[in-house]
Amino acid sequence: MKMRAAILEQLNTPLVIEEVELDEPKDKEVLVKLVATGVCHTDIHCIKGDLLTPPPVVLGHEGAGIVEKVGRNVTEVQPGDRVVVTVAPYCGKCPACMMGVPTSCETDPQTVMLMGTMADGTKRLKRKNGDELSHFMAQSSFAEYAVVEESATVKVRDDAPLDVVCLLGCGASTGIGAVINKARVKAGSSVAVFGCGGVGLATIMAAKLVGAHPIVAVDLLDSKLEMAREFGATILVNASKEDPVMKIATECAGGVDYSFEAIGNTTAMTQAFHSVYPRPGGMALVLGLAPIGAAFSIEAWRFMREVVITGCTVGSIRPRIDIPRYVDLFMAGKLPLDKLVSAHYTLEQVNEAVKDTLEGKIVRGVITF
Ligand SMILES: [Zn+2]
Ligand SMILES: [Zn+2]
Repeated sequence: MKMRAAILEQLNTPLVIEEVELDEPKDKEVLVKLVATGVCHTDIHCIKGDLLTPPPVVLGHEGAGIVEKVGRNVTEVQPGDRVVVTVAPYCGKCPACMMGVPTSCETDPQTVMLMGTMADGTKRLKRKNGDELSHFMAQSSFAEYAVVEESATVKVRDDAPLDVVCLLGCGASTGIGAVINKARVKAGSSVAVFGCGGVGLATIMAAKLVGAHPIVAVDLLDSKLEMAREFGATILVNASKEDPVMKIATECAGGVDYSFEAIGNTTAMTQAFHSVYPRPGGMALVLGLAPIGAAFSIEAWRFMREVVITGCTVGSIRPRIDIPRYVDLFMAGKLPLDKLVSAHYTLEQVNEAVKDTLEGKIVRGVITF
């Protein structure tokens, strides 16, 4: 079928809107008519060349829409279903999936997804001249339609606004899941969140929901810290003006119980680890994606106190269990996901959305179709 899509032709250039050809969904794949898609920093990482996905590529990976058609052997969704499309398709059979961590699925490898194909190693997107286009995160939602893995689709309730819950496909679930699923933050324990973009603010709203206190927000911009206060942060630290590790030690009796790095910045990862109070149970979680090859160093003595540092991919969610729960929490007014959406754009305005995201003017921009 023909549809419009935003294409990144070369790294560090504006996206171009073009009519492209999208093939039919194959086995265990689903065609989704997109209603909305978030614009995430990971799209921008790809534009800058921090990821491996080869251009030309159709970006976008926080989509939500309506199932238009299903391929063979699809059993979980059917045409007409309203779905969030996640960034984390999974096989359900590999060790990571069997351990209940499908976001770390070993057979739907990041390598396949980052190499710009679907899980079977082939592509569904073509230009008018027949040249193949890469997929992004097996989704490519900066387009009117997307063919995605069945396991990337999560059916959501009919009254949920797709231009809000689309954020649960990646960024919002990353923050919420890190607090609830991975860290299992206890009421009354202290939390620090490094980076107050979409992921960081989702982390803060979940920390508030589970009763963490105090909640420290760390960022370089006062405007983002003010946002963090609205979402539940009780202590604000501008890391361009003061050392967050010292400040957290002073304000939180030596350190916090849990810290979350939510930007993909190696300096912040170091600070997040050093901000945890050195006692068993202390945990630093890295949610952000650093450029491939980036490294950082930490004070090794802290391991003697059994402080844990761990990655957490897409909030370690079990998509079909957790996303409908987060939707229910949002609809019940307990997770203000709608406040993360600060601007709407059309597909034609995609470059404006990218620019506003990059400049930190908005928390999350959402393209609606
Ligand atoms: Zn993302
Ligand atoms: Zn798997």
